[in-house]
Parts: sequence; C-alpha cells; structure tokens
Amino acid sequence: MSDRTIFEQIIDGDIPARIVHETETTLAFLDANPLAPGHTLVVPKEPYERLRDLPPELSADVFETVRTVTPAVQDAVDADATTIGINDGPEAGQEVPHLHVHIVPRFEGDGGGP
Ligand code: 5GP
Repeated sequence: MSDRTIFEQIIDGDIPARIVHETETTLAFLDANPLAPGHTLVVPKEPYERLRDLPPELSADVFETVRTVTPAVQDAVDADATTIGINDGPEAGQEVPHLHVHIVPRFEGDGGGP
C-alpha cells in the first residue's frame, strides 16, 4: 500500500491524468471532478502539504505555471474569466495533502465563486 498521495502518483506517472502543462518543478493537469469544464490543478512536483511549507523559489515556480496556464485554460473552454484558489488546510476543504492551486474557468452568470 502506497503512502504517496494521489497527486504524487499522478506526478510519478502511476495514475493517469490529462496533463495540461509541465515544467521541471511543476505539473498542471485536469481535475477529475471538475467544478467547470477545464478545471485545472497546478502542483509542485515535490510533495509539500501547505502553502507555508513551500520554499520561495518553488512558490514562484508554481505561480508562474498558474500565470502561464490560466489564459490557455480559459481560452480552451471559451470561458469569460477564471477563479484561482487554494484550499490551504483541511478545515478550508483541502482533501489532498499536497499543495494544489485550482484554476476554475468561469462563465457569465454561472453564479459560482468564493
Ligand atoms: P481540494 O479539495 O483538496 O482542494 O481539491 C482536490 C481536488 O482534487 C478536487 O477538486 C478533486 O476533484 C481532485 N482530485 C481528486 N482525486 C483526483 C484524481 O485522482 N485525479 C485528478 N485529476 N483529480 C483528482
């Protein structure tokens, strides 16, 4: 039985995922239970659990991947805007203990959002 999280198993290629973008230190892939078409997750490849745990250079890498991927995701599903967020801790709804940034495409009048 593996004690790796589901995201580590995706990063290691042991569980399939729809990869959107990859860098040396980060991975972006489609969410398996999307809140909207194109819902994408960005993760550091190293398994840090919380935002506070991330070394600053890796934090910059993660945000740069978010910055790069967001317009491509939005355009791919013809969305009007994007909500970007982190559930930082279980009480905030973090289910997978490997930091991840949600990129959720938004559509006019969809009524969602934080
Ligand atoms: P959290 O609630 O931790 O902020 O978000 C976890 C996200 O991971 C959820 O949106 C959920 O749909 C997604 N997720 C859970 N398991 C898998 C999986 O096996 N593959 C993919 N691609 N996404 C997953």
